[in-house]
Amino acid sequence: MNCQATMRLLHAYVDGELDLPNALALEEHVQGCPRCRSLHANLLALQTALRRHGGWETPDALRERLQAHYARQPEVRMPRRTWLAQAVPALGALAIVALIGYSGYEHTRVPSAPEPARIVYHMTNSDAAGAALRTLGNHLDAAPDVAVVVVAHNNGVDFLLRGARDETGQLLETAVRRFKERGVEFRVCGNTLVRRKIDSGEVIPEAKLVPSGIAEIARLQGQEGYIYLRL
Ligand SMILES: [Zn+2]
Repeated sequence: MNCQATMRLLHAYVDGELDLPNALALEEHVQGCPRCRSLHANLLALQTALRRHGGWETPDALRERLQAHYARQPEVRMPRRTWLAQAVPALGALAIVALIGYSGYEHTRVPSAPEPARIVYHMTNSDAAGAALRTLGNHLDAAPDVAVVVVAHNNGVDFLLRGARDETGQLLETAVRRFKERGVEFRVCGNTLVRRKIDSGEVIPEAKLVPSGIAEIARLQGQEGYIYLRL
């Protein structure tokens, strides 16, 4: 057996799914080939690590921090699958080696950074837009990697209109632009504009128009794994 065949059959061998003649030929090659031997050892170690952890979840510390942060938000729901669980079936040899390096840290229960949370904030009222944006700012300070989409709907669209000001008279567009620079996206419900007879030209250029705010929220939650929060 050569290296190419070994690499192709190694997963099945480690999983005990290879037939006896192939398994014997593979073992013979692995004995004499340092490269395949090290690949085999890494694969075994990965398998052991996966069995030991029994699955990959959002680290408790992050979960607790977000839950504490949104203690008054009963809708909070953390994704339980992380990128690793999704990536394992597609791991190549290099990724395996990288993971083995990491799994050497016996004391860490979860061996990698969590997938950044995705949050969709539903904004239905602009009366306290300044306070809402401050909450959002605190959130980003605590979790800079979080992906945030703000969907404005009903009276929530007002803070994304030209000339809108917060409770203290500050122009809200300036704040919105700063959030946009930090990766936050603002989406305005087109149905609301039609119903309230607001011209789409009134919407500040930092915000994007979507046909329906509710459909957008449903799509982000259902198809893109966003967590719903009300701002
Ligand atoms: Zn080889």
